[in-house]
Amino acid sequence: MEAEKKKVVIVGGGIAGGLLAKSIQFNCDVTLIDPKEYFEIPWAELRNKVEPSFAERAIVYHKDYLTNGTIITSRAIDVTETTVLTADGRQISYDYLVIATGHNEAVPFMREERLAQYKADYEKIKSAKSILIVGGGGVGVELAGEIATDFPEKKVTLVHRGTRLLEFIGAKASKKAHDWLKSKKVEVLLEQSVSLDAASEAEKVYETSTGEKISADCHFLCVGKPFGSSWLQETILKESLDNRGRLAVDEYMRVKGWKNIFAIGDITDVKEVKQGFYAQKHAQVVAKSLKWLVKGGNETKMSTYKAGSPIAIVSLGRKEGVAQFPMLTFSGWLPGKIKSKDLFVGSTRKQMGLPS
Ligand SMILES: Cc1cc2nc3c(=O)[nH]c(=O)nc-3n(C[C@H](O)[C@H](O)[C@H](O)COP(=O)(O)OP(=O)(O)OC[C@H]3O[C@@H](n4cnc5c(N)ncnc54)[C@H](O)[C@@H]3O)c2cc1C
Repeated sequence: MEAEKKKVVIVGGGIAGGLLAKSIQFNCDVTLIDPKEYFEIPWAELRNKVEPSFAERAIVYHKDYLTNGTIITSRAIDVTETTVLTADGRQISYDYLVIATGHNEAVPFMREERLAQYKADYEKIKSAKSILIVGGGGVGVELAGEIATDFPEKKVTLVHRGTRLLEFIGAKASKKAHDWLKSKKVEVLLEQSVSLDAASEAEKVYETSTGEKISADCHFLCVGKPFGSSWLQETILKESLDNRGRLAVDEYMRVKGWKNIFAIGDITDVKEVKQGFYAQKHAQVVAKSLKWLVKGGNETKMSTYKAGSPIAIVSLGRKEGVAQFPMLTFSGWLPGKIKSKDLFVGSTRKQMGLPS
């Protein structure tokens, strides 16, 4: 008789949790808990807004890649030393627990509704003459790039609170992105914030913190989101949260102080830029360790993770981009060729065991 498989509960079906679930589904008894019925490739988000059909490949039902596990479509609300409690009243026991709740974002739970949301965003962009983008990090810059490329006739204004765009990477890369946006007639306003009250939206006039007035038919808010850890604040893991809401992990990606609880992806306190690319690496390391542990492997021989260096590729429309590697920053068609055409959707789908 086959020995009973170890129970692994993964909380969060994003880039990290989804890949881990897929990777260990034939080695362990996997349960994935996520409030959404789907997994979404986040780096396709901005293209989805200008080309809603692009989202069809980027939004995948969990059941399409997790064919040998249990999917619980609910939110985890508590953790004990042996179980996870969900908002719909279930108690799921575990031998190993992995927290992968990344960032908090209010998105529809149903795939069809998420697709409809992208169609609505597309209509909003199409019918507007002028568009305000608030936030000049990766999301705001990529959205400005997508709109400036596909709708060059629109007046796009990008307002950013910081002293330069793309502050998560080097100054050289931000200047290249800024220059590119300027060349596409995107107006970039730095060191300003925007008040987004109901009156500004109704009157289509927004005021910045320096009193500048911006006329725009619609706006997109592209600012950072909080970590998805508020649900952990009254749990056994509360002592492992830092003051920003991230879980402290050791070199094995185990939550500090716990032998059978891991954390992966954006929710961790690993000292590196929060990128899906690294979240995937965390998932691969923990997948290897769990496969080893469930075979009876010694925990001192588990795989370890070393923080990644600040690598990033920011797409600028469909053909161009700006890339930062440890010794090199460059922009133009080459980063565009690497990322901007398909935005890694094909390769991410392949990694999830799906046709590209
Ligand atoms: C628009 C955009 C573009 C990006 N582009 C890139 C890029 O080009 N390259 C790159 O490397 N990175 C990029 N990133 C960053 C990347 O998306 C993140 O680093 C990555 O998504 C982190 O993955 P994660 O699985 O840790 O968290 P998330 O993707 O945030 O997933 C968290 C999951 O947890 C679930 N969850 C939350 N709370 C609970 C709960 N209580 N119970 C159960 N489930 C819960 C959520 O539903 C979600 O499925 C981009 C991000 C955005 C938003």
